[in-house]
Amino acid sequence: MDYERDSLASHTVPANLLALDEEGMGRLVQQFGWPRYRTGQIMRWLYQRRAKDINQMTDLGHAERTALASQATIPRVTGCTVFRSIDHTRKLVLTLSDGLTVETVLIPDENRLTLCVSTQVGCTLDCGFCLTGTMGLKRNLKPHEIMEQVLTAQDRLDPSERITNLVFMGMGEPLANMEALSEAIRRLTNKRWGLGWSPRRITVSTAGLAARLKDIAPLGVNLAISLNATTDDQRASLMPAVNGIASLRTLLAACRRYPLPPTRRLTFEYVLLAGVNDHADDARRLIKLVRGIACKINLIPFNEFPGNPFRRPSEGDISAFQTIVRQAGLDVFVRKSRGRDVLGACGQLGNLAPQYAEHVLTQIEPRC
Ligand code: SAH
Repeated sequence: MDYERDSLASHTVPANLLALDEEGMGRLVQQFGWPRYRTGQIMRWLYQRRAKDINQMTDLGHAERTALASQATIPRVTGCTVFRSIDHTRKLVLTLSDGLTVETVLIPDENRLTLCVSTQVGCTLDCGFCLTGTMGLKRNLKPHEIMEQVLTAQDRLDPSERITNLVFMGMGEPLANMEALSEAIRRLTNKRWGLGWSPRRITVSTAGLAARLKDIAPLGVNLAISLNATTDDQRASLMPAVNGIASLRTLLAACRRYPLPPTRRLTFEYVLLAGVNDHADDARRLIKLVRGIACKINLIPFNEFPGNPFRRPSEGDISAFQTIVRQAGLDVFVRKSRGRDVLGACGQLGNLAPQYAEHVLTQIEPRC
C-alpha cells in the first residue's frame, strides 16, 4: 500500500511509525532482526497507550529503543485548536504535516460521547447544503491522519470521559477513500494491539456511492446512507455529483442487496430543508422508498451556515414530517443539532468564505 511504502522507501527521512500498518511494522521489526512479537508491542504503544516518544516504550530494551529512534519517529499532530460550544460539543481543528487542516467533533450526550471523524480534507462531492462541499477536494486523508483525530481527541478528554461511539460523518465522503477508511477501522477494532472497539460502536455514513456499499459489509460497522431526497430530480439538484454516480433506484437496490446480519439495520439520513424536501408528499415518498429494508431513519434539521440559502424548518414542520413517517410504522428520530455555535454540527465543517469568518469568530472561544 502506498502510505506504507512512502515511509519505508527512503532512509533519508525517518519512518513515521503511525503510517505503518501491521505488515509494514512487521517488516521494520524484521529489518532490525527482532522477534516478531515486537510488532504487537510497538503497535500497542502507539494505539493503546498513545505514546508520543519511542523512549516511552519501556518493554523494549534501551538499545532497541535507540535503534528504533534512529530510524523512526511518532510525529503526532502538533497544531490543534479546540472550539467549545455552549452545549459542551468540542470541535478540534488539527493541522496536518502539509499545513492543511482537518476537523473532528466530540459530542457528549447523556451517557454517550460520540466522536465525529473526517476522512478527506474537503470533499469529492458537491452537496448544496454542506459547507465541506463548497471547498472541493483538497486530498484524501491517510489512515494515520484518520487515527490521529481519534488519538488527539482521546488525549484531550477529561479523566472521567470515554469515547463511546465513532461516526465517520465529518469532512469528506468516506467511501471515496475506502482503503484508508478500512485500514483506520482495522486499527480501531484490532483487539491485540489496536483500540479494540467493537465495530458496532462505529458508523460509516455515505452520500450514496452505491457500488461501494458492499465493501463496508465485511468491516462489520454500521452503515448510514444520506438519502436527503425522494425523487431523482430533487436529489440531482441537491446532491448533483453523487446522484450522477448512482440514481435513487440504483442506490436503494444496493441497500436492499446489502448483507445485513439478522439483528442489524441500515440508517437512512434525511436532511430537512424548509420548503424544499419537508412536505407531506416527501414524507410519503420516503416511506415507499425504504419499504422492506430493515432500517431506521434519522431526520437532520438543516444546520444553517453563512452564505447558504437553505433554511431550517420550524419545529412544527419537523415534527409533522416525523409523525407521517412514524405512522407508517418506521423508526424515525430527529437528530439533535449540537455544536452549531462553533460550526461543529452536521454539514458545518470546513472553511468559511473569508467575508463570513469574522462573523463566526465572534462566537467561538479557541483553546489550545
Ligand atoms: N459524506 C458523508 C458524510 C458526511 S456528511 C455523507 O454524505 O453521508 C454527514 C451527514 O450530514 C450527512 O447525512 C449529510 O447529509 C448531513 N449534512 C450535510 N450538510 C448538512 C447541513 N448543513 N445540515 C444538516 N445536515 C447536513
